[in-house]
Amino acid sequence: MNEVTRISSLIRRITAPNPGPMTATGTHCYLVGNKQVAVIDPGPAVDTHIQNILDTCGDRLKWVVVTHTHPDHSPAAQALIAATGAEPIGQVMVDDGHQDTSFQVERNIDDGEWLECGEFRLQAIYTPGHVSNHVCYLLPEEGTLFAGDHLFGGGSVVIIPPSGDMKDYLTSLRRLLALEITTIAPAHGGLIRQPYEEIKKLIEHRLKRERKVIVALNQCGESSLETLLPVVYDDVDSSLHKIASYSLWAHLLKLEKDGVALKTIDRHWAFGEEHWVLV
Ligand SMILES: [Zn+2]
Repeated sequence: MNEVTRISSLIRRITAPNPGPMTATGTHCYLVGNKQVAVIDPGPAVDTHIQNILDTCGDRLKWVVVTHTHPDHSPAAQALIAATGAEPIGQVMVDDGHQDTSFQVERNIDDGEWLECGEFRLQAIYTPGHVSNHVCYLLPEEGTLFAGDHLFGGGSVVIIPPSGDMKDYLTSLRRLLALEITTIAPAHGGLIRQPYEEIKKLIEHRLKRERKVIVALNQCGESSLETLLPVVYDDVDSSLHKIASYSLWAHLLKLEKDGVALKTIDRHWAFGEEHWVLV
């Protein structure tokens, strides 16, 4: 069983036992509050992990909060709610084949809405991009942003269209720059202690890649995604090109929205067969 790590006077962390290339050491489940507890991103429905959360919170567990409904984030919610009567908080979306549909709410939480929890409060910050129902939660008492999969501590986030959207992602990253944040607590990887530097770095990283996409389209003319992939990702090991193809697709769709690129052959999301050209 993974240990309970105290992060601050209000925050504890239990990492779910689901380590892997996409989850790092596992999904971080954050417990906020001492008298009344909100669990943020309970994680996968693994019995020992659920028991660990219940042993730690007991009947002080009042809210089960999710940043989004990917299968490594929300499935443990159902058992925690059944055991404690805690209230589910988050947003649900139409299932695109990648969502945990066991997580349900009476009403999607709104952007900017406050969750009043007695000794602390959490504000919902709607951050679509990684997926369209993604919400971060700000704990102003400590300047901590629970970022789910909006940021990955020590890596970059996968954006898979159509539920993932690069244009939304960059807009959602820029939004964070206006908030007062001292620490970002992501669902995967370490705490981010220089939030603004990290956010700006991530935005610049994506824009740099976007510029490479434009240069590649300029060089290659009308091209398929397969043709563009090794040109745009010539600095990335080919073993990672499969996963990079999703990001390339997301970049092209953003350029289409921006009026920079155009799809000339559209085989309805069979993204390998689309052809693209600069406008
Ligand atoms: Zn996710």
